[in-house]
Amino acid sequence: MALRVRAAMEAISLAMADQTDRGEVAFYIPELATSDPQNFAMSVSLASGEQISVGTSDTAFSIQSISKIFTLAIALGRFGDGFWRRVGREPSTMAFNSIQELEIRKGRPANPFVNAGAITTTDMILAGSTPAECIGEILQFVRLAASDDEIFVNPAVAASETATGHKNWALAHVLTAFGNLEHPCEMTLGVYFHQCAIAMTCAQLARCGRFLAGFDAEQDLVAAKHVRSINALMMTCGHYNGSGEFAYRVGIPSKSGVGGGILAIVPHVASIAVWSPGLDRDGNSLLGIQALELLSESMGWSLFQGATSSLDNPLVSNRSRTCR
Ligand code: GLU
Repeated sequence: MALRVRAAMEAISLAMADQTDRGEVAFYIPELATSDPQNFAMSVSLASGEQISVGTSDTAFSIQSISKIFTLAIALGRFGDGFWRRVGREPSTMAFNSIQELEIRKGRPANPFVNAGAITTTDMILAGSTPAECIGEILQFVRLAASDDEIFVNPAVAASETATGHKNWALAHVLTAFGNLEHPCEMTLGVYFHQCAIAMTCAQLARCGRFLAGFDAEQDLVAAKHVRSINALMMTCGHYNGSGEFAYRVGIPSKSGVGGGILAIVPHVASIAVWSPGLDRDGNSLLGIQALELLSESMGWSLFQGATSSLDNPLVSNRSRTCR
């Protein structure tokens, strides 16, 4: 399979180099506004442990909202189903940082991937530790997942968002007003801004997603039932208001960040990271989605594919065996 994946990725990398419309970088976080939209990278980590990368896959970028996967994993591990008392699991209908939606929902965020839901998740895992310890725990989680200790927070990005993230400050205050934030806003947001500022290369991020693909189960990072929940949330809510369109075009659980990264999971087959900093109108990487659409199509990786699509996909081939 690795050879086919490599051939597909090389073709995609060439196609992406030709794209003139590369989206708009996230100007609302000054430190991200300097990203170069010419960057494109993709890395795929397979069950066998083989890893295939194209483009600037060794350049670190800000994972931003992709970090919400890891805090959700920590929270589910700690609180189990009790987690959902404070956060919903429905797609949002408004922007990822909407204050209006949080008010309509009376302070219980739609899901853990909109900003209000992620801030609440961070508030939950902050219980019993200092902000510095909590950031340390999140870093330890991603380092273990990626089997790589060279993953760090970019302090300039964290400082940039702390100074200018007024919508997030507002969301934290609204959560407090509804009694859904246990810590002072500056403590919870201190952790939140730092988790968003974690920097990874595409190659590191693809390895980081292996636990979601069901690889390396012996690592025991997250229980299988939580992996299933996280993948379900990624499928339904991972791209904000673009989630339905993403399911239609690509068809695999994935989560985007405004740094231009996307982590996408083909269960039991591949963990894929893609990065291109230019965003579409929903705040998702424009080229990242195009590249994932092309890869999913050429490998037959959509989970919604018919039974005969790809013998490489154990989900599909198991299904076809059962049907016969
Ligand atoms: N740090 C970003 C924010 O809070 C995360 C949003 C994203 O990556 O989608 O606005």
